[in-house]
Amino acid sequence: MNYESFFRSEIEGLHAEGRYRVFAELERQAGQFPRATRYTGDDSHDVSVWCSNDYLGMGQHEVVTSAMHEAIERCGAGAGGTRNISGTNHYHVLLERELADLHGKEAGLLFTSGYVSNWAALGTIAARLPNCVVLSDALNHASMIEGIRYSRAERRIFKHNDVEDLERQLAEIEPGRPKLVAFESVYSMDGDIAPIKEICDVADKYGAMTYLDEVHAVGIYGPRGGGIAEREGLMDRLTVIEGTLGKSFGVMGGYITASAALCDFVRSFASGFIFTTALPPALAAGACASIRYLKSPEGEKLRLRHRNRVETLRRRLDAAGIPHLPNPSHIVPVMVKDPVKCKMLSDILLDNYGIYIQPINYPTVPRGTERLRITPSPLHTDDDIGGLVRALEDLWSQCALSRAVA
Ligand SMILES: *Cc1c(COP(=O)(O)O)cnc(C)c1O
Repeated sequence: MNYESFFRSEIEGLHAEGRYRVFAELERQAGQFPRATRYTGDDSHDVSVWCSNDYLGMGQHEVVTSAMHEAIERCGAGAGGTRNISGTNHYHVLLERELADLHGKEAGLLFTSGYVSNWAALGTIAARLPNCVVLSDALNHASMIEGIRYSRAERRIFKHNDVEDLERQLAEIEPGRPKLVAFESVYSMDGDIAPIKEICDVADKYGAMTYLDEVHAVGIYGPRGGGIAEREGLMDRLTVIEGTLGKSFGVMGGYITASAALCDFVRSFASGFIFTTALPPALAAGACASIRYLKSPEGEKLRLRHRNRVETLRRRLDAAGIPHLPNPSHIVPVMVKDPVKCKMLSDILLDNYGIYIQPINYPTVPRGTERLRITPSPLHTDDDIGGLVRALEDLWSQCALSRAVA
């Protein structure tokens, strides 16, 4: 077989469909968020980033960077080992306590990313609970799907955010079998929010455990940034709350919080926890500082400002007739519904307007729902918003894209 030509022809297919991924080469400018320098060959230009998952700009916050500097001075660069073999730093332990407190749980357990936390925790729990059935929301993130697949447990997919369908499926399962309902709070592509209470109610009725991914909500929702479950007073209803340190907290890493026994169980059996080097202490220190800040009244101010920016952008888009998905979150999806146009719009925004919004195409979203996913931050100014909306208006006229009925 000609291996090289196989690889090339597969890539050709992606080009033909307009969904070949090109990464923008950026250099973030600390203290200037959302500004960044974009490199193209030998050239570089300033751009304004509108699609960052560092939703609150905490990745450049002085509280976070100074905690990281200090930890590097104290501990050096790397953890020096897996958690079991000399890698458990004091900062990891402090961070796990901070996380448990954030979600009102007995314990927290750190992983090297949110992806790994979902994969390892779901994979381990579902594999080791004898005869477990996992009920998984149809739009769950790839990391949850991979964890469930890896567990080899029976998997049932319920319709997205559909409590009736979930209940119908739970009722079909033999009552004595262990059951785990896995879902997210804020879904990152449509920005819709799960009916957490109703899902917990049916899970309780059928004796199922619940596993909630709050990756797109931690830091942003709830009076201390504990996520949607905190905002709605539901944290104690969930068996496991999972999150990332890489989005609103601005650093890197993932975690679960749950009972002491459950965390100890995953700590003791999950290959994806055991056999990998622990996070650098400075990352743990930065995450700790970020979480503490977002728990404080200062964090609440940032959340208010964030909501104000999101509302302002939506209002301006409505006035301009630019179609965007209505949803109750901070994610503003501007619908293009064509992969080639979506990529083209993103390219023109970047090249001609210095505005960076990554196109979102299949398989991240279903075909025909291609979009520009905009994530305003507390640090985007009125001028930034005005510039973005004017650029989109230009492009909507030039490319004869359909407008929303204002
Ligand atoms: C980004 C994401 C993850 C993975 O988190 P990382 O820390 O980036 O690995 C998990 N779940 C959802 C829903 C996500 O969007």
